Amino acid sequence: MDKELLTQNMSELVLNDPVNTHNGEYRYFDPPLLGLASAADPLFLEFKTEIVGSHFRPPLEWLPGAVTVISYFLPFGEHVRTSNRTPGLASPEWLHSRFRGEEFNDKMRRFIIAELQNAGANALAPVIEADFISDFTRFTSNWSERHVAYAAGLGTFSLNRGLITPKGMAGRFGSVITDHYFAPSARPYAHPFKNCKFTDTRNCGACIKRCPSGAITEDGKDKAVCYDYQRNQNPLADLNREFGYPYSSCGKCQTKVPCEYQIPL
Ligand code: SF4
Ligand code: SF4
Repeated sequence: MDKELLTQNMSELVLNDPVNTHNGEYRYFDPPLLGLASAADPLFLEFKTEIVGSHFRPPLEWLPGAVTVISYFLPFGEHVRTSNRTPGLASPEWLHSRFRGEEFNDKMRRFIIAELQNAGANALAPVIEADFISDFTRFTSNWSERHVAYAAGLGTFSLNRGLITPKGMAGRFGSVITDHYFAPSARPYAHPFKNCKFTDTRNCGACIKRCPSGAITEDGKDKAVCYDYQRNQNPLADLNREFGYPYSSCGKCQTKVPCEYQIPL
């Protein structure tokens, strides 16, 4: 098992699995980007001691003998992204991709685990483990897909607290820890906020104007305001109930912005 073969197998799942489609009408995700980090990378300890918090569990606390962390980005397809470029409420396509798309993302996590196990390795995905904890009062968790993606060379953080990859920020991240060795990817950026034109050169701010709740300012994103909008204030509540989703989604700060599907030029 190497990076090329794993990427190819993941891409085939993306392109052929009906779970990645909305009733066969359109695909939620395009083929993934893959990044790799050493489980012993000192950055994971920095996440615990300085950046995320003491509740963060580095790879070896999830999987004794861990060697590699595999991180991937599943970009939303063009149909999904363009549907959400309007102002106001999230498009139905965006909502479906957020919730039903995440079911496919869980399937992807399990697929990667099975691929590695078939190659004789141990593997697990923290966010589908029973002891994964996501704390919505402090807006943090004991494993962070975005921080792991940064460590694996997939992209950098942004004003709106997303992660901008070479395929933009509109999409979903996932990761798997394994004791199989893969060569770590480079982190091709000068600083952790390099890919965002505002946090790099203060030359953008498009997401501030796109945000319907006022959560984003030049100082960053107020996660509590965003959370309240998506859970309590958004008049999509009735639509969500009809779809059976637990709360709303939004994503306006990830669409019709220069970082939607690429690193801003
Ligand atoms: S829209 Fe502009 S300011 Fe906002 S995250 Fe993207 S690049 Fe950064
Ligand atoms: S998801 Fe919506 S409410 Fe939250 S920061 Fe982005 S645009 Fe604002």
